[in-house]
Amino acid sequence: MGSRFLRKDLGRFSPYIVNNYPNCIKLDANENPFELPDKIKEMISLEVYNIPFRLYPDPNASLLRENIARYIGVDKNNIAVGNGSDEILQIIFTAFIDEGDTVMYPALSFEMFGILSQIFRARSLVLDLNEELQLDAEDVVQGLKRYSPKIFLLCRPNNPTGWSMKTDDVIAVLEESKRLDTMVVIDEAYSEFARESLIGLLSDYDNLIILHTFSKAFSLAGLRIGYAISNEDIIKDIMAVKLPYNVDIFSQRVASIVLDYRDMIEERIDEILEERERVYKVLKNLPRLRVFPSQANFLFFYCEKDSLMEELIHRGIKIRSFSGGNTLLEKAYRVTIGKKEDNDKFLTAMEEILH
Ligand code: PMP
Repeated sequence: MGSRFLRKDLGRFSPYIVNNYPNCIKLDANENPFELPDKIKEMISLEVYNIPFRLYPDPNASLLRENIARYIGVDKNNIAVGNGSDEILQIIFTAFIDEGDTVMYPALSFEMFGILSQIFRARSLVLDLNEELQLDAEDVVQGLKRYSPKIFLLCRPNNPTGWSMKTDDVIAVLEESKRLDTMVVIDEAYSEFARESLIGLLSDYDNLIILHTFSKAFSLAGLRIGYAISNEDIIKDIMAVKLPYNVDIFSQRVASIVLDYRDMIEERIDEILEERERVYKVLKNLPRLRVFPSQANFLFFYCEKDSLMEELIHRGIKIRSFSGGNTLLEKAYRVTIGKKEDNDKFLTAMEEILH
């Protein structure tokens, strides 16, 4: 990559790459397998006629922020919305990272942490994981003490491993980061699938930002809506540096409607969780494969079979492969939990390929 105009330091930059296989069952991007219920789509189509498309959207997304705040039990001034939580992460880097600041995050976590660190010329401090692909809280505390990073980024449950750091360990990390004045960003994109959130800790730690998204549990990846939850001062900073009309008028309305019908969404989460446990058990019994327990809507596994991706694609199934570069990721894969029939197809394919 690189025209002659590209910043010199981005010459060896590897962007986030998404490969498209149009005819495959998509189990590669942690999307929700269920389309929005018809009832919600009906409400959206009625609303479409009332939307003034010629006007710019509300730059403060006031109504949506009020609705989100009510849903999670905080004040509207504790919420900022973005064009996906990807954008919120980018805004956090824009607002809080100076060139050369240290950004600390675990190995094998959300790829955007490293990509944004590079774009914003931060120094990445990547923490090693243990055998179980978990991050030791003590290692985080040591990292905080030694390097005083500006930000520590934690994805919980973690993409791609599905692991969640224990609450007590997160508290230990927060205590030390508060003492050292390091900002902690906890990306809870998958927290609905863990049935657990650390929002309750926000009142104790004014250096904490929690990120949520409508893309996963709420089946709205196509609309791009995510949000940050934090104290008023941090939210003010985020609102100040974001682009004025970052969330379009349609997305603002639709997200509010979906929140009104969240019971329908809840039922689907239950179904995904049941399927996750079923798929986990089957994978656990396959030869030449090591699967890790997960709190999210996907499973991470190592598989010895070299041609696994090609053989799955040949059978019309697309999962995520991580091979290339990092030794931790050699032979590493992530499969998103789909609908029962799609999971069955995936499992049958795996059994055929590995037996
Ligand atoms: N955080 C994590 C951990 C993710 O996996 C993703 C989706 N790939 C995002 C954030 C971004 O989600 P959004 O669609 O809200 O931008």
